[in-house]
Amino acid sequence: MKYADVILPIAFDGFTYIIPPEMEDKAVRGRRVVVPLGKNKIYTGVVINVHENEPEGYEMKTIIEALDDHAVVNEKQFEFWQWVAKYYISPLGDVMKCALPGAMKPKDDNALKEATKKRRGSKNDIICEGIAASNTLNDAQRKAMEEIEESWVTKNVTLLHGVTSSGKTEIYIQLINKFISEGKQVLYLLPEIALTTQITDRLRKVFGDNMGVYHSKFTDAQRLDVYKRQISSVPYQLILGVRSSVFLPFQNLGLIIVDEEHEQSYKQQEPAPRYHARNAAIMLAQMFGAKTLLGTATPSLEVYHLAKKDKYGYVKLTQRYRNLQLPSIEVVDTKEAKRKKQMKGLFSPRLIEVMRDALAKDEQIILFQNRRGFSNYIECKNCGWVPHCPHCDVTLTLHKKTDSLTCHYCGYSCHVPEACPACEEKKFNNVGTGTEKIEDQIPTLFEGATCIRMDLDTAKTRQQYEQIISEFAQHKADILIGTQMVTKGLDFDNVSVVGILDADSMLNIPDFRSHERTFQTLSQVAGRAGRKSNSGHVILQTRSAGSDIIKQITGNEYWNMFYTQMLERQTFRYPPFYRLIYVYLRHRDDELLEHLAIDMGEKLRTIFGDRVLGPDRPPVSRIQSLFIRKILIKIETNASIDRVRQALLEIQQQMLAIPVAKSLNIYYDIDPL
Ligand code: ADP
Ligand code: ZN
Ligand code: ZN
Repeated sequence: MKYADVILPIAFDGFTYIIPPEMEDKAVRGRRVVVPLGKNKIYTGVVINVHENEPEGYEMKTIIEALDDHAVVNEKQFEFWQWVAKYYISPLGDVMKCALPGAMKPKDDNALKEATKKRRGSKNDIICEGIAASNTLNDAQRKAMEEIEESWVTKNVTLLHGVTSSGKTEIYIQLINKFISEGKQVLYLLPEIALTTQITDRLRKVFGDNMGVYHSKFTDAQRLDVYKRQISSVPYQLILGVRSSVFLPFQNLGLIIVDEEHEQSYKQQEPAPRYHARNAAIMLAQMFGAKTLLGTATPSLEVYHLAKKDKYGYVKLTQRYRNLQLPSIEVVDTKEAKRKKQMKGLFSPRLIEVMRDALAKDEQIILFQNRRGFSNYIECKNCGWVPHCPHCDVTLTLHKKTDSLTCHYCGYSCHVPEACPACEEKKFNNVGTGTEKIEDQIPTLFEGATCIRMDLDTAKTRQQYEQIISEFAQHKADILIGTQMVTKGLDFDNVSVVGILDADSMLNIPDFRSHERTFQTLSQVAGRAGRKSNSGHVILQTRSAGSDIIKQITGNEYWNMFYTQMLERQTFRYPPFYRLIYVYLRHRDDELLEHLAIDMGEKLRTIFGDRVLGPDRPPVSRIQSLFIRKILIKIETNASIDRVRQALLEIQQQMLAIPVAKSLNIYYDIDPL
């Protein structure tokens, strides 16, 4: 009798099934099968193993149907999935669920057949002949490219540290060309939000039909199409994609480019596997014997640290293309302006002056504010009552346009109450500032100026997002107001002024990375000014004008920022000196959860000693009606991660064996961001 170990898209590693004799030649490693589970569930899974060892201890079921004539998952993918599952302590089923396009998982495989049919008739099958060489490199770029290639003689990973607009993308294009002409595949990773038509068009011009784009906002059919193409005999040689494209099948990968490597969105937060696409990409490249290029203007401390230690190659570009100046950053002390009663809402007199100047010259402006919504929250004028989300442990954000209060964690929304439920007062204070409040103040301060707002509320879909970008690029608005979204990779010719309204709201986020992140974000947003001429001007408003971090940002002193932050990281045992592991526990019953979390903390301490901190209630300690506790473990980076995982899984088993802990949910976040 033959048996198949099958990975199913659920939170387990897999289950074993009987292979009926007539399916023996189809139910093999890498192909999909339809199987029953439990009383009446049916799943599509992938066979990972075929063997003759009858498993003991449970009654086996039989495979219902074998779907494929060829493997849909290749050996390299299995190797990669297993690494992800192991490193991020995530069941193989969760990894598969994340790795395969949705249309490959349900029982109905019509989508796959459809895609195959379409593919056959498609002109994309013809690989474009010869690739047009792009606009040539300048001396600095050529030197950087040579240095990158030289570093690859001895290193597998190289950091390209180039100021904004230094022409990194042009270097990537040349390198991609080189690898493709050697018959190798290239993966070009971008953070979700930076994958715009701007960059797609730019690369499409060079690589044409040889390039596949993989985006999470694409339809399932579109993603399936790319997947199918990659397992065919004529795969795309270049994939331009977001973090999940590390899971695509590759046949002979030669190079992975991770652009904006410092970007937080490379880390998947929810659901499992909570992988970091940059780190996973480095592993993937290693499996292929391929090279990795990490590009950014503001490296993450982790990557810069490894480059300084000579583990990674390091190449620097200090000049903007065409020798344009980096925009000068002018600090405006809002504490002082407020004391003198000079602030007009959120605008200092200096910012107003610079903006009016630019508007008079018909130049465009970007205003950056870290938060969306109108104000952070509302508060009863009389008793101080603040509305909270009924499901999550957070205040609700005011959205004035819709006169509603919204939870930014679960999406819960309700109307602003007529009166305070505690004291019946009818007036509320608006506390804090979001993008919507800034938009509200524009008409009175800048008569006749038009503006668009770009944040999660106005750019919910990819179409809306691209529409805003294209309207602003066509100068249909003078001012673009936005959150983080306006900082990423946008290239507008006519923007001369960038205004940062409140740097402190980022600096004061209670997170050991907040200074590093503020440096990165504000350098990025400043880099949006003066990309085509020398007139770039950045106004940075802050109440802590004299602080080290503000000086480092305005002086573009990456090294100083790195040095001061590293001292703190070492003192407080944070990355890159220590590896962080968050252990999360979730349960409906808060009191029971408290007991279980304390118990688990103690068990962990018997092994890890004072490396264990907590349990604690995380800043948001209830999401969608489940209470949450977090235990933090700080492990020396040279400790064996295998032993750590083993210990964690043993303790997890002990916890789940406790009779009252039946519906306790335990999960891990390795290297959390
Ligand atoms: P980065 O990726 O470092 O931000 P880009 O590659 O986007 O920089 O380059 C910034 C601008 O300079 C772009 O508009 C790009 O078209 C232009 N540019 C860069 N390198 C060259 C080159 N070698 N020839 C012509 N234009 C270039
Ligand atoms: Zn009240
Ligand atoms: Zn909520």
